[in-house]
Amino acid sequence: MTPETDPRTAQLGQRLTAVRQRIAAAVAAAERTDDPPRLIVVSKFHPAEDIARLAGLGVADFGENRDQEASEKAALLSGLDVRWHFVGQLQSKKAKTVVRYAHAVHSVDRSQLVEALGRAMAVEQERSGRGSLDCFIQVSLDDDAEAHRGGAAPADVPLLADQLEGAAGLRLAGVMAVAPLGADPDRAFAKLSGISARLRADHPHATGVSAGMSQDLEAAIRCGATHLRIGSDILGSRPAVR
Ligand SMILES: *Cc1c(COP(=O)(O)O)cnc(C)c1O
Repeated sequence: MTPETDPRTAQLGQRLTAVRQRIAAAVAAAERTDDPPRLIVVSKFHPAEDIARLAGLGVADFGENRDQEASEKAALLSGLDVRWHFVGQLQSKKAKTVVRYAHAVHSVDRSQLVEALGRAMAVEQERSGRGSLDCFIQVSLDDDAEAHRGGAAPADVPLLADQLEGAAGLRLAGVMAVAPLGADPDRAFAKLSGISARLRADHPHATGVSAGMSQDLEAAIRCGATHLRIGSDILGSRPAVR
């Protein structure tokens, strides 16, 4: 169906345009027009048909947070030229399947996962000849380490970075974070920006900063985000039951 005849495509197109306008306004306000962030549409819980619609509207990057769901969608949509970003908590035993479809993993938060991804990529590169996997170190921005929403402690970033640098098939892309619930996103993302600067001092090419969701994309852009992960403001609220 053409966008004119499919109401869902029209709706997605309107919401995508609205989000792109918000991004453009924030990029202009932050004087970042030479260096705008990449938009990743987080499609978790939404059907493959919506991803196909958004790809038709020019979206090239999609985020998923569960391996099984992502694997199924990647297989269904293998004919589309899109990149898959894994953004959820990842069990080490899922590394083998994730590397079959993922361009990037944004949630690398522990040594054991780096090891598992490295082993999985060795096998996968042998099998398919794929390029390296972009790895973002997910950092917890919670002051209270016990309450964190996932991610490594900032103090653990240098070790994880060295480990990623040493692993064939893995590319240290940068850092990722989710603003803590109830926290001021500007303050949270400023902290992430500092962590990114320290990382880049040792690893100048690790320039990625994956930050910013529907609620806080403007703050993330102000603080230097290079990758935005936007779900509900484009796809709508996620169904409570699948
Ligand atoms: C779901 C999710 C997003 C998207 O969040 P929205 O509020 O729907 O824009 C971004 N990042 C991660 C890690 C997510 O799990």
